[in-house]
Amino acid sequence: MTSPFDLSGKVAVVTGANTGIGQAIALALAAAGADIAAVGRTPAEDTVAKARALGRRAEIVSADLSTIEPVQRLADETVAKLGGLDILVNNAGIIRRADAVDFTEEDWDAVVDTNLKSVFFLCQAAGRHMIANGGGKIINIASMLTFQGGIRVPSYTASKSGIGGLTKLLANEWASKGVNVNAIAPGYIATNNTAALQADEVRNKSIVDRIPAGRWGDASDLGGAAVFLASRAADYVQGHILAVDGGWLAR
Ligand code: NDP
Repeated sequence: MTSPFDLSGKVAVVTGANTGIGQAIALALAAAGADIAAVGRTPAEDTVAKARALGRRAEIVSADLSTIEPVQRLADETVAKLGGLDILVNNAGIIRRADAVDFTEEDWDAVVDTNLKSVFFLCQAAGRHMIANGGGKIINIASMLTFQGGIRVPSYTASKSGIGGLTKLLANEWASKGVNVNAIAPGYIATNNTAALQADEVRNKSIVDRIPAGRWGDASDLGGAAVFLASRAADYVQGHILAVDGGWLAR
Protein backbone atom coordinates (compact mmCIF):
# COMPACT_ATOMS: atom_id res chain seq x y z
CA MET A 1 0.00 0.00 0.00
CA THR A 2 1.36 3.44 -0.88
CA SER A 3 1.56 6.22 1.69
CA PRO A 4 -1.50 8.53 1.74
CA PHE A 5 1.00 11.37 1.38
CA ASP A 6 2.57 9.96 -1.81
CA LEU A 7 2.49 12.55 -4.64
CA SER A 8 4.09 10.38 -7.33
CA GLY A 9 2.81 11.22 -10.79
CA LYS A 10 1.30 14.55 -9.69
CA VAL A 11 2.29 17.91 -11.18
CA ALA A 12 2.52 20.85 -8.77
CA VAL A 13 2.66 24.55 -9.67
CA VAL A 14 4.33 26.62 -6.93
CA THR A 15 4.51 30.42 -7.24
CA GLY A 16 7.39 32.37 -5.73
CA ALA A 17 9.39 29.14 -5.79
CA ASN A 18 12.88 30.64 -6.01
CA THR A 19 13.29 31.40 -2.31
CA GLY A 20 11.83 31.25 1.21
CA ILE A 21 8.57 29.45 1.88
CA GLY A 22 7.85 28.79 -1.81
CA GLN A 23 11.17 27.03 -2.34
CA ALA A 24 10.74 24.95 0.82
CA ILE A 25 7.23 23.89 -0.20
CA ALA A 26 8.31 23.07 -3.76
CA LEU A 27 11.10 20.84 -2.46
CA ALA A 28 8.83 19.15 0.12
CA LEU A 29 6.31 18.36 -2.65
CA ALA A 30 9.15 17.07 -4.84
CA ALA A 31 10.44 14.90 -1.99
CA ALA A 32 6.93 13.43 -1.71
CA GLY A 33 7.00 12.55 -5.42
CA ALA A 34 5.54 15.53 -7.32
CA ASP A 35 6.94 17.09 -10.49
CA ILE A 36 7.34 20.84 -10.13
CA ALA A 37 6.58 23.95 -12.19
CA ALA A 38 8.53 26.63 -10.33
CA VAL A 39 6.92 30.01 -11.05
CA GLY A 40 8.25 33.49 -10.42
CA ARG A 41 9.92 36.63 -11.66
CA THR A 42 13.38 35.42 -10.67
CA PRO A 43 14.13 32.09 -12.41
CA ALA A 44 14.03 29.38 -9.72
CA GLU A 45 17.19 27.66 -10.98
CA ASP A 46 18.30 26.37 -7.57
CA THR A 47 14.84 24.94 -6.78
CA VAL A 48 14.60 23.21 -10.15
CA ALA A 49 18.12 21.76 -9.81
CA LYS A 50 17.31 20.41 -6.33
CA ALA A 51 13.97 18.92 -7.45
CA ARG A 52 15.71 17.22 -10.39
CA ALA A 53 18.35 15.88 -7.99
CA LEU A 54 15.45 14.18 -6.18
CA GLY A 55 14.55 12.47 -9.45
CA ARG A 56 11.59 14.69 -10.37
CA ARG A 57 10.79 16.56 -13.54
CA ALA A 58 11.01 20.28 -12.82
CA GLU A 59 10.65 23.33 -15.04
CA ILE A 60 11.04 27.09 -14.61
CA VAL A 61 7.97 29.12 -15.57
CA SER A 62 8.75 32.85 -15.74
CA ALA A 63 5.89 35.11 -14.76
CA ASP A 64 5.32 38.46 -13.08
CA LEU A 65 2.11 37.75 -11.20
CA SER A 66 1.30 41.43 -10.63
CA THR A 67 -0.13 41.49 -14.17
CA ILE A 68 -3.00 39.39 -15.46
CA GLU A 69 -1.64 38.03 -18.76
CA PRO A 70 1.05 35.72 -17.29
CA VAL A 71 -1.41 34.59 -14.61
CA GLN A 72 -3.90 33.48 -17.25
CA ARG A 73 -1.35 31.58 -19.39
CA LEU A 74 0.36 29.85 -16.46
CA ALA A 75 -1.92 26.83 -16.15
CA ASP A 76 -1.75 26.07 -19.89
CA GLU A 77 2.03 26.57 -19.88
CA THR A 78 2.42 24.10 -17.02
CA VAL A 79 0.27 21.50 -18.78
CA ALA A 80 2.30 22.01 -21.97
CA LYS A 81 5.62 21.60 -20.13
CA LEU A 82 4.75 18.83 -17.65
CA GLY A 83 1.64 17.14 -19.04
CA GLY A 84 -0.81 18.01 -16.26
CA LEU A 85 -1.69 20.22 -13.32
CA ASP A 86 -2.81 18.51 -10.11
CA ILE A 87 -1.63 20.85 -7.34
CA LEU A 88 -1.47 24.66 -7.19
CA VAL A 89 0.35 26.46 -4.37
CA ASN A 90 -0.32 30.21 -4.41
CA ASN A 91 2.67 31.40 -2.40
CA ALA A 92 4.09 34.52 -4.11
CA GLY A 93 3.47 37.63 -2.05
CA ILE A 94 4.78 41.07 -1.14
CA ILE A 95 4.27 43.51 1.73
CA ARG A 96 4.35 47.34 1.91
CA ARG A 97 4.45 49.17 5.24
CA ALA A 98 3.03 52.62 6.06
CA ASP A 99 0.52 54.18 8.45
CA ALA A 100 -3.06 53.87 7.23
CA VAL A 101 -3.39 57.69 7.01
CA ASP A 102 -0.41 57.89 4.63
CA PHE A 103 -0.97 54.71 2.62
CA THR A 104 -0.74 55.28 -1.15
CA GLU A 105 -2.86 53.90 -3.96
CA GLU A 106 0.31 52.51 -5.55
CA ASP A 107 1.14 50.48 -2.42
CA TRP A 108 -2.47 49.32 -2.22
CA ASP A 109 -2.60 48.16 -5.87
CA ALA A 110 0.85 46.54 -5.87
CA VAL A 111 0.04 44.33 -2.89
CA VAL A 112 -3.57 43.51 -3.72
CA ASP A 113 -2.75 42.73 -7.38
CA THR A 114 0.11 40.38 -6.42
CA ASN A 115 -1.30 38.80 -3.25
CA LEU A 116 -5.01 38.56 -4.03
CA LYS A 117 -5.97 39.26 -7.64
CA SER A 118 -3.34 36.85 -8.99
CA VAL A 119 -4.41 34.23 -6.45
CA PHE A 120 -8.02 34.34 -7.63
CA PHE A 121 -7.19 34.22 -11.33
CA LEU A 122 -4.60 31.47 -10.85
CA CYS A 123 -7.20 29.47 -8.91
CA GLN A 124 -9.65 30.10 -11.77
CA ALA A 125 -7.22 28.99 -14.49
CA ALA A 126 -5.99 25.94 -12.55
CA GLY A 127 -9.49 25.16 -11.25
CA ARG A 128 -10.92 25.00 -14.80
CA HIS A 129 -8.24 22.50 -15.70
CA MET A 130 -8.68 20.46 -12.49
CA ILE A 131 -12.47 20.33 -12.83
CA ALA A 132 -12.13 19.14 -16.43
CA ASN A 133 -9.71 16.43 -15.28
CA GLY A 134 -11.61 15.12 -12.26
CA GLY A 135 -10.03 17.07 -9.42
CA GLY A 136 -6.99 18.64 -7.81
CA LYS A 137 -5.62 20.42 -4.76
CA ILE A 138 -5.22 24.17 -4.27
CA ILE A 139 -3.25 25.59 -1.35
CA ASN A 140 -3.25 29.34 -0.78
CA ILE A 141 -0.61 30.86 1.49
CA ALA A 142 -2.44 33.10 3.95
CA SER A 143 -1.02 34.68 7.13
CA MET A 144 -1.72 35.34 10.79
CA LEU A 145 -3.16 38.56 9.35
CA THR A 146 -5.92 36.48 7.79
CA PHE A 147 -7.21 36.40 11.39
CA GLN A 148 -5.68 39.50 12.99
CA GLY A 149 -5.45 43.18 12.07
CA GLY A 150 -1.75 43.89 12.31
CA ILE A 151 -0.48 47.46 12.08
CA ARG A 152 0.93 49.61 9.22
CA VAL A 153 0.15 46.91 6.62
CA PRO A 154 -3.37 47.75 5.38
CA SER A 155 -3.15 46.30 1.88
CA TYR A 156 -1.34 43.18 3.13
CA THR A 157 -3.97 42.56 5.81
CA ALA A 158 -6.77 43.11 3.30
CA SER A 159 -5.12 40.75 0.81
CA LYS A 160 -4.55 37.99 3.36
CA SER A 161 -8.07 38.31 4.83
CA GLY A 162 -9.31 38.14 1.25
CA ILE A 163 -7.39 34.91 0.71
CA GLY A 164 -9.22 33.42 3.70
CA GLY A 165 -12.62 34.27 2.27
CA LEU A 166 -11.68 33.22 -1.24
CA THR A 167 -10.40 29.87 -0.01
CA LYS A 168 -13.76 29.15 1.63
CA LEU A 169 -15.80 30.36 -1.36
CA LEU A 170 -13.83 28.21 -3.82
CA ALA A 171 -14.04 25.22 -1.47
CA ASN A 172 -17.83 25.64 -1.43
CA GLU A 173 -18.07 25.89 -5.21
CA TRP A 174 -15.60 23.15 -6.11
CA ALA A 175 -15.84 20.50 -3.34
CA SER A 176 -18.40 18.56 -5.37
CA LYS A 177 -16.07 18.65 -8.39
CA GLY A 178 -13.14 16.97 -6.62
CA VAL A 179 -11.08 20.12 -6.10
CA ASN A 180 -9.91 20.72 -2.52
CA VAL A 181 -9.18 24.37 -1.71
CA ASN A 182 -7.40 25.08 1.58
CA ALA A 183 -4.90 27.56 2.98
CA ILE A 184 -1.85 27.62 5.22
CA ALA A 185 -1.33 30.54 7.60
CA PRO A 186 2.38 30.78 8.43
CA GLY A 187 3.46 32.50 11.63
CA TYR A 188 6.77 34.36 11.86
CA ILE A 189 9.01 32.51 9.40
CA ALA A 190 12.68 33.43 8.91
CA THR A 191 12.99 34.40 5.21
CA ASN A 192 14.26 37.39 3.20
CA ASN A 193 10.82 38.90 3.72
CA THR A 194 11.34 39.10 7.48
CA ALA A 195 15.11 39.74 7.55
CA ALA A 196 14.70 43.33 8.81
CA LEU A 197 12.54 42.18 11.74
CA GLN A 198 15.05 39.51 12.68
CA ALA A 199 17.90 42.05 12.53
CA ASP A 200 16.11 44.49 14.86
CA GLU A 201 17.16 43.25 18.30
CA VAL A 202 14.22 44.79 20.19
CA ARG A 203 11.52 43.71 17.70
CA ASN A 204 13.09 40.28 17.39
CA LYS A 205 13.01 39.73 21.17
CA SER A 206 9.39 40.86 21.48
CA ILE A 207 8.38 38.50 18.65
CA VAL A 208 10.21 35.46 20.00
CA ASP A 209 8.93 36.15 23.53
CA ARG A 210 5.34 36.04 22.18
CA ILE A 211 5.71 32.79 20.20
CA PRO A 212 4.80 29.82 22.43
CA ALA A 213 7.35 27.64 20.58
CA GLY A 214 10.00 30.22 21.57
CA ARG A 215 11.57 30.49 18.12
CA TRP A 216 11.05 31.77 14.58
CA GLY A 217 9.70 29.21 12.15
CA ASP A 218 11.94 27.93 9.40
CA ALA A 219 10.59 27.77 5.83
CA SER A 220 10.96 23.98 6.02
CA ASP A 221 8.38 23.97 8.85
CA LEU A 222 5.72 24.58 6.16
CA GLY A 223 6.62 21.54 4.06
CA GLY A 224 4.64 18.92 5.97
CA ALA A 225 1.43 20.97 5.99
CA ALA A 226 1.73 21.53 2.24
CA VAL A 227 2.35 17.85 1.49
CA PHE A 228 -0.65 16.90 3.63
CA LEU A 229 -3.02 19.36 1.94
CA ALA A 230 -1.72 18.34 -1.50
CA SER A 231 -2.22 14.64 -0.85
CA ARG A 232 -5.15 12.23 -0.86
CA ALA A 233 -4.87 12.27 2.96
CA ALA A 234 -6.68 15.63 2.68
CA ASP A 235 -9.44 14.51 0.28
CA TYR A 236 -12.14 15.42 2.86
CA VAL A 237 -10.50 18.65 4.06
CA GLN A 238 -12.18 21.71 2.53
CA GLY A 239 -11.94 25.45 3.11
CA HIS A 240 -9.58 25.02 6.07
CA ILE A 241 -6.91 27.56 7.03
CA LEU A 242 -4.13 25.62 8.75
CA ALA A 243 -1.97 27.76 11.05
CA VAL A 244 1.71 26.78 11.16
CA ASP A 245 2.80 29.39 13.66
CA GLY A 246 4.46 27.82 16.70
CA GLY A 247 1.26 28.52 18.64
CA TRP A 248 1.02 32.29 17.92
CA LEU A 249 -2.73 32.25 17.30
CA ALA A 250 -3.37 29.91 20.23
CA ARG A 251 -2.05 32.48 22.67
P1 NDP B 1 9.99 36.04 0.22
O1 NDP B 1 10.02 37.52 0.09
O2 NDP B 1 11.20 35.32 0.71
O3 NDP B 1 9.53 35.39 -1.18
C1 NDP B 1 8.45 35.93 -1.88
C2 NDP B 1 8.33 35.19 -3.20
O4 NDP B 1 7.26 35.78 -3.96
C3 NDP B 1 9.58 35.31 -4.05
O5 NDP B 1 9.83 34.08 -4.70
C4 NDP B 1 9.20 36.38 -5.06
O6 NDP B 1 9.86 36.26 -6.27
C5 NDP B 1 7.73 36.07 -5.26
N1 NDP B 1 7.04 37.20 -5.84
C6 NDP B 1 6.80 38.41 -5.28
N2 NDP B 1 6.17 39.21 -6.16
C7 NDP B 1 6.00 38.49 -7.30
C8 NDP B 1 5.43 38.76 -8.56
N3 NDP B 1 4.90 39.95 -8.87
N4 NDP B 1 5.43 37.77 -9.49
C9 NDP B 1 5.97 36.58 -9.22
N5 NDP B 1 6.54 36.25 -8.04
C10 NDP B 1 6.55 37.20 -7.10
O7 NDP B 1 8.73 35.74 1.13
P2 NDP B 1 8.33 34.51 2.08
O8 NDP B 1 8.90 33.25 1.57
O9 NDP B 1 8.56 34.93 3.47
O10 NDP B 1 6.74 34.55 1.87
C11 NDP B 1 6.06 33.67 0.99
C12 NDP B 1 4.56 33.82 1.26
O11 NDP B 1 4.29 33.55 2.62
C13 NDP B 1 4.01 35.23 0.98
O12 NDP B 1 2.72 35.12 0.41
C14 NDP B 1 3.93 35.83 2.37
O13 NDP B 1 2.96 36.85 2.46
C15 NDP B 1 3.55 34.61 3.18
N6 NDP B 1 3.85 34.75 4.61
C16 NDP B 1 5.15 34.87 5.05
C17 NDP B 1 5.41 34.99 6.41
C18 NDP B 1 6.80 35.09 6.96
O14 NDP B 1 6.95 35.28 8.19
N7 NDP B 1 7.86 34.95 6.16
C19 NDP B 1 4.33 35.01 7.38
C20 NDP B 1 3.01 34.88 6.80
C21 NDP B 1 2.79 34.75 5.47
P3 NDP B 1 11.05 37.31 -6.66
O15 NDP B 1 12.20 36.91 -5.80
O16 NDP B 1 11.28 37.06 -8.09
O17 NDP B 1 10.51 38.68 -6.35
